[in-house]
Amino acid sequence: MDRFLRYVRIDTQSAEDADTYPSTEKQLDLSRLLVDELHAIGLTDAALTEHGYVLATLPGAAGAPVVGLIAHVDTTPETPGGGVEPIVHEAYDGAPIVLPGDPTQVLDPVEEPELAARVGHDIVTSDGTTLLGADDKAGVAEIMAALEYLAAHPEPAHATVRVAFTVDEEVGLGAHHFDLDEFGAEVGYTLDGSGLGELEIETFSARAVRITIRGRGAHPGSAKGKLVNSVKLAADLIAALPRDALSPETTDGREGFVHPSRISGSVEETVVALIVRDHDDGKLEEHTALVRRLAAELEAREPRARVTVDATDTYSNMRAAIDRHPRVVAAAEEAIRRAGVEPVRSLIRGGTDGAVLSAMGLPTPNIFTGGQNYHSLREWASVQDMSAAAATVVELARVWAEPAA
Ligand SMILES: [Zn+2]
Repeated sequence: MDRFLRYVRIDTQSAEDADTYPSTEKQLDLSRLLVDELHAIGLTDAALTEHGYVLATLPGAAGAPVVGLIAHVDTTPETPGGGVEPIVHEAYDGAPIVLPGDPTQVLDPVEEPELAARVGHDIVTSDGTTLLGADDKAGVAEIMAALEYLAAHPEPAHATVRVAFTVDEEVGLGAHHFDLDEFGAEVGYTLDGSGLGELEIETFSARAVRITIRGRGAHPGSAKGKLVNSVKLAADLIAALPRDALSPETTDGREGFVHPSRISGSVEETVVALIVRDHDDGKLEEHTALVRRLAAELEAREPRARVTVDATDTYSNMRAAIDRHPRVVAAAEEAIRRAGVEPVRSLIRGGTDGAVLSAMGLPTPNIFTGGQNYHSLREWASVQDMSAAAATVVELARVWAEPAA
């Protein structure tokens, strides 16, 4: 908990559309602290790479596979993330938690069964004016705690562990400069999940779609028959998207979506940015085709406008890559059990660094951290669940030093 509280106080927000890598220099404030703390634990090779990743090694049993552990230091730019003042609600009594910095922010156990189930736990929140940053400083703290424990307890034997603390995960670039040869792990795990016991082996396949609508400007006083307003055309396009389906606000589980996330422009040109998601690559194609069809229809109705669609793949579902390495999942489930928790296989309605790493050849499922309500002012984490995640990491390093079952 002390580590976690220390880390969340450091502002590490990443930024969209930056020209630098990492997107913000302040992320490295935490990365540099982690290098120092890793040295103090005894991981003498800990260092910052030229791209801002922290890499370090805890040597272990010769001949056992090298296990990679990965978490990201940055927090989302979607929610205020500077000046975090963590509050520990010790031995939670089950009542609604009113966050003092903004009393309209209330954690209500009636609305949140996960919170209701944690009476007696120590619950960490922000003061309600910022996110907490459990995503992913809980993961960072758990890996650090596990490394410290393993370094002090070499018996029973554990596998060699390689650690990476990445930057810019929240803007989709966490693995952008990740060098698998330099990392040198044979299997990987991100500590970037949520609820107790969850092991995520599937992500969305993700695509960014950018629709550019070019209209025609004219002085509004003499625009009759001349003006083509791209703002109105963009509104038509968005209004034509499905609402009761294929939207984040109306889907869950395995249902994908087409989500207009940003719009900017004026009469002459308007850009609509969408994200398209599905667990099934075939359906991802269908959703993209729907967007292209709506764009073509718009242009057909107003031939004086120019509508272009650019689609870029962001990451793909890691399931297929992980299925080729069944021991990666079995070892994680065994480690979770040894930490006293029942493992729950689940899927991510989003992506992780692991999705990109799995596609690059390092199978990397995602392990729970004990944090909840990510990217929200009402983000919280249970210290007891974070402890279970740290214990899972310790057990995982040991499981991989044992002969394959
Ligand atoms: Zn995360």
